[in-house]
Amino acid sequence: MPSTIQRTLILIKPDALQRDLLGEVVQRFERKGLKIVGMKFMHLSEGMVDEHYAHLVAKSFYGSLKQFMMQTPVCAMVLEGLDSIDSVRKIVGSTNPREADAGTIRADLSMNVPSNLVHASDSVDAAAAEVKRFFKDDELFAYEKITDRYAFGEGV
Ligand code: ADP
Repeated sequence: MPSTIQRTLILIKPDALQRDLLGEVVQRFERKGLKIVGMKFMHLSEGMVDEHYAHLVAKSFYGSLKQFMMQTPVCAMVLEGLDSIDSVRKIVGSTNPREADAGTIRADLSMNVPSNLVHASDSVDAAAAEVKRFFKDDELFAYEKITDRYAFGEGV
């Protein structure tokens, strides 16, 4: 299937900020060649967490998940790249850090399911909805980098 340039939404969670891992997490995405087209700190409101984790509100752990997501600001990012939605999920690793593949952010840097450092959109529809949820149009920046030809173009 031909690759497409996609945008995907990342939230770097409070445990990453508390553990001074913000730079490390951002660097892993940068080193892949993903382009940061939006980035900001924000305090999530209860409503935003409820909307974002609507598929989990009935779970017994939801109360503590919500509290956790509001402990500190989160760093929200939009990353652009070739098939970036799947690429980023692979870099992030599976939900349980102890089952995630070595080399992923979650496997390398965390151990515990609730505090697994990063959220990343898991589908085209989710990415579209989540980018819209956390970023206004004028907070997203289309710009050229001299490395685009290697990361996005013919590759030579
Ligand atoms: P992912 O973040 O990998 O897309 P989910 O959407 O299923 O996974 O879950 C969202 C977040 O909720 C997880 O990243 C984790 O922080 C938390 N979570 C998921 N399952 C549990 C659980 N069983 N106990 C506590 N927290 C959980």
